[in-house]
Amino acid sequence: MNNIGMRNLFGATQEQPFINFNDEKMYFFHDSPHLIKSVRNNLKKYNFSYDNDFCSWSDLEDFYNLDKNKKPRLAPRLNKIHMDLPPFSPMRVCLATQTLSHSVSSGMMTLISLNEMKSSAIHTARFIEFFDNLFDVFNSITHSEAKTLRKPLTKTSDHWKFLNEAEQVLGKLKVHNRTGKLPPCIVGWRENIIALKLLFKELDEKYKIDFLLTRRLTQDSVENVFSVVRSRGGNNVTPDATKFHSAIRMCMCNTLLEPSKSGNCESECDAVQFLTKCSELKKIKIQLKVIGDPNDDEYSDKEDFLNLHLYSMNIENILMENHEACAIGYVAGWMCSKLIHQECVDKLAAKSEDNSQVNLENTHIEMKSYQNANLLYPFKNTLEFAKKVTCIFNLNIESLLLKNKTGVRKEIIKIVDIVCKPLNICDACKTEFLKKLLNVLINSFIKNSNNNIDVFKMHSKN
Ligand SMILES: [Zn+2]
Repeated sequence: MNNIGMRNLFGATQEQPFINFNDEKMYFFHDSPHLIKSVRNNLKKYNFSYDNDFCSWSDLEDFYNLDKNKKPRLAPRLNKIHMDLPPFSPMRVCLATQTLSHSVSSGMMTLISLNEMKSSAIHTARFIEFFDNLFDVFNSITHSEAKTLRKPLTKTSDHWKFLNEAEQVLGKLKVHNRTGKLPPCIVGWRENIIALKLLFKELDEKYKIDFLLTRRLTQDSVENVFSVVRSRGGNNVTPDATKFHSAIRMCMCNTLLEPSKSGNCESECDAVQFLTKCSELKKIKIQLKVIGDPNDDEYSDKEDFLNLHLYSMNIENILMENHEACAIGYVAGWMCSKLIHQECVDKLAAKSEDNSQVNLENTHIEMKSYQNANLLYPFKNTLEFAKKVTCIFNLNIESLLLKNKTGVRKEIIKIVDIVCKPLNICDACKTEFLKKLLNVLINSFIKNSNNNIDVFKMHSKN
């Protein structure tokens, strides 16, 4: 029997999603991580429409294909696995939340405004944004969140306005499957909204609660306990009550009650991936034409070296696509916000853009900024510097890696010092800015290389 069957059995309805037990109301919630996975699965299979505006997976694929090889990317977390969903991956919650995410929706809006995606894709972008917001409301865990909807629910918070609108949107949503019947996950979100409103009202009246952490309404903690208990008794997939009881006692005695490592939403495993992929990278013989190697006799002269880098960098800078420039603009704004001296920050960026001098590179910041986020808009000089460093990095990283696996960062900094006009800030902030920028670039280079190796392996298998 599934969850919906159980609701029916207890007589819980959409308007009355609770039962009375020992003079207390027990509310029924659908597990929001399951709902968000299910929405993603349905979008992959069917088109949705809202007021005759179509939302479809193919828009998302278009976006992924445009973004996947950019360095840096607008949505760096979106990968092939999110698109293909190979066996077992549909169960992983994080793949769904990274797909239906603010980065993806704002990335799509950026490309639409740059005229690189068709304008009708805006409906899919909004669909993604909507479900990202809705999931946030049901996933709050801490007060220290920039995004309003990710904060805990309070009596006067902005959540209520959003939830009222969300109810309307879900009511008008249409799915284009064979029967036209809305999938259970859409109905489930509506039922959750109704249940949340009733639950909060009751908690407020009875206990005068200050806030509600909605992640506590999911079955995450239960699932974690079950996965630990199950891993105790070997491969027993159908334990009876006695076996379960003794297993959970054993766990508690051993105080081993921690989530299993193969849990549903695993932590970022980039480091591990990098280590394994790095050894594979070494096995592949890449023959690259190393241009501008400063150790070559031909380029031993410093002036030649300088000229060569300046020349290729300028060409690259001119050829840089708006798509990547916007990603760099976003990264630059974020880095400015991390500097320690306010007076240095003020020389690089501002909280809003001067309307007389709008920089195209800041389009993505515009799309990304949400209430209270206080994103910074870098000035023209800052943008130029970040773009030049990116060009230098992308031009040299492969040849530097082939030459020497260590000290790559130092080499790049050396070239930047010679070739780029320095930022007009203190030395500490200068170093910090460059360090952060290089971290982002190295990260996106590694991710891109890993993805390419995956593609390479796939092709060599066939
Ligand atoms: Zn400073």
